[in-house]
This record gives sequence, C-alpha cells and structure tokens, in this order.
Amino acid sequence: MDPAERKARCERFARLCRERGLARTVQRRVIFEIVAERTDHPTADQVFELARKRLPGLSRTTAYRVLELLADLGVVTKACSPGAATRFDPMTQRHHHLVCLRCEKLVDIVDERLGRGVALPAAQARSFQVRDFSIHFHGLCAACQRQARAKQRGTVDQSNRAHQRGLERQRASGRQERSKR
Ligand SMILES: [Zn+2]
Ligand SMILES: [Zn+2]
Repeated sequence: MDPAERKARCERFARLCRERGLARTVQRRVIFEIVAERTDHPTADQVFELARKRLPGLSRTTAYRVLELLADLGVVTKACSPGAATRFDPMTQRHHHLVCLRCEKLVDIVDERLGRGVALPAAQARSFQVRDFSIHFHGLCAACQRQARAKQRGTVDQSNRAHQRGLERQRASGRQERSKR
C-alpha cells in the first residue's frame, strides 16, 4: 500500500474514534496498523500473534474484541473465506476476491465493472438490508496449480516406473524360461 493511502486510513480511523468518543488505545492502534499493513486478509489469530510481539501483555480476547470494534467502525472489513476463521481486510471500498480453495489465499480485485447490475431478488430485497456485496472467484492459485501438476506428474512417473519394472520382470523370466530349455 502506498504511504498516502496508509496515512488516509490512519486519519480516518482517528476521526471515527473521535466522533464516537473512543480512546485510541495502544491496542486499538497497533491492531489497526497490523491489518492495514497487510493485503493477505489475516485471521484474528494471525493478527493476535503479530500484535503480541509488539504488545507482550495482550490477551487473545482483547485482540478479538478490538478486531470486532474495528469492523464495527468500518475501518476494516470481514472477508468471507473458504476456511472457518473470519478474515480481516483493510480494504473498505467495494472490491472482490480470488479465493484459492487449496491454500486459502485471498487476493483483492478492484474492478468497477464487476458486479454491475447485481441486485437481490425482490423477495429477499424486502426483508434483507444490503450494505455491500462482493464476488468471490473460487479456484486454484498459480502456486497450487503448479503443485497439483507436479503431483500429477509424480504419480504418472511412478506408474510408468511400475510398468517398466513389470516389463523388466517379464523379460527376465522370459530369459530364464529360455535358458531352462
Ligand atoms: Zn493456492
Ligand atoms: Zn479484500
């Protein structure tokens, strides 16, 4: 993230805290900074582990509570993920995600054309208040595709080798048969 963007986010956070009469405690500041610095959508546990290095006395419960507060304030968002854990996202403008089903990597996509014309069916629109939406493209990232291909090649090689060994055995026993005669 470029420094100007980071500065703008920090200022927005400070302003929202002032407006709500919330103290910008060191825990809140550090946890916000940790999420803001990352683009990989960390889980609450990952944020906690990083925050603990800077704030040795920090408890997991406090870290979780601060993350919920930041999400409430709207300075971080919660991104849906293929795993069970909520992932936190410093990007608050509308954006979409590539989701790797294997390594659970989440990559941001910002493209205004995406989702244009998306609307809830009338029946749901009456009872559900939409605040935002995001599109998730589920699949395999480049690294996981490479791994899958390598694994496939490995099994092909293995079956080739087994096939080869079988042929060699056949040939050897053929030779034995012939020498017996
Ligand atoms: Zn992957
Ligand atoms: Zn995101």
